[in-house]
Amino acid sequence: MRLILLGPPNAGKGTQAQSLINKYHIPQISTGDIFRANIKQETPLGKEAKSYLDQGLLVPDELVVAIVQDRLKQEDCQKGFLLDGFPRTVVQAEALERFLKEDGSALNRVINIHVARETLIERAIGRRVCQRCGATYHVAFKPTAAEGICDSCGGEVIQRKDDQRETAEKRIQVYENETAPLIEFYQSQNLLVTIDGEQSIEAVTTAIYEALKDA
Ligand code: ADP
Ligand code: AMP
Repeated sequence: MRLILLGPPNAGKGTQAQSLINKYHIPQISTGDIFRANIKQETPLGKEAKSYLDQGLLVPDELVVAIVQDRLKQEDCQKGFLLDGFPRTVVQAEALERFLKEDGSALNRVINIHVARETLIERAIGRRVCQRCGATYHVAFKPTAAEGICDSCGGEVIQRKDDQRETAEKRIQVYENETAPLIEFYQSQNLLVTIDGEQSIEAVTTAIYEALKDA
């Protein structure tokens, strides 16, 4: 299964990715997670990406495309993958199309999670993530059992810097300008399925499974 999870920041892509990778036994490739891990380890890539993430801007296409291309060549992606947060521009989508063609493979589906702007801000402000394993929580909608401690690994749960209101708003604007055109891009290839992301986490998962039944 080769899938893309498309949608604005805080739509619920990472949350849904967890169920999908378990069901389909495919790796999750989150470009945001790759950048955050590199920033934490202070690698050259992390140093280059940091200011873009801090400002809620997109990292330049050349850098992101090279990372994803390398990642897709790895053995665990041979039977499929779930892209979360990539592609985010038409240039990235065209690059992905080229590498899949070279590899003789193709996408099965693009799942577009639709959530209204006010909900996105509410989710951003309440989102908490585990610093150790990356698990995602929400103070109201998916709280940890013990405050500030990850249920799965016991790591410290924090708020992402780019989830503060101003940066979250900026990221939505960037999404609308640069990423939303991908809806039309994938619709014209008959790959797109739009899911109502305002439902409960479980209802969104069920709707995605349904959309993938014949994929
Ligand atoms: P994305 O990966 O698209 O940026 P996340 O999966 O991290 O989004 O979800 C953003 C926030 O919203 C998290 O705090 C998550 O727990 C919460 N969330 C995700 N899906 C739902 C939902 N269907 N209903 C309520 N809260 C949700
Ligand atoms: P995310 O974890 O998907 O919300 O991404 C966090 C941040 O990482 C974004 O705001 C961008 O700065 C950067 N980023 C992640 N994926 C991409 C991408 N495909 N293209 C450009 N920048 C990205």
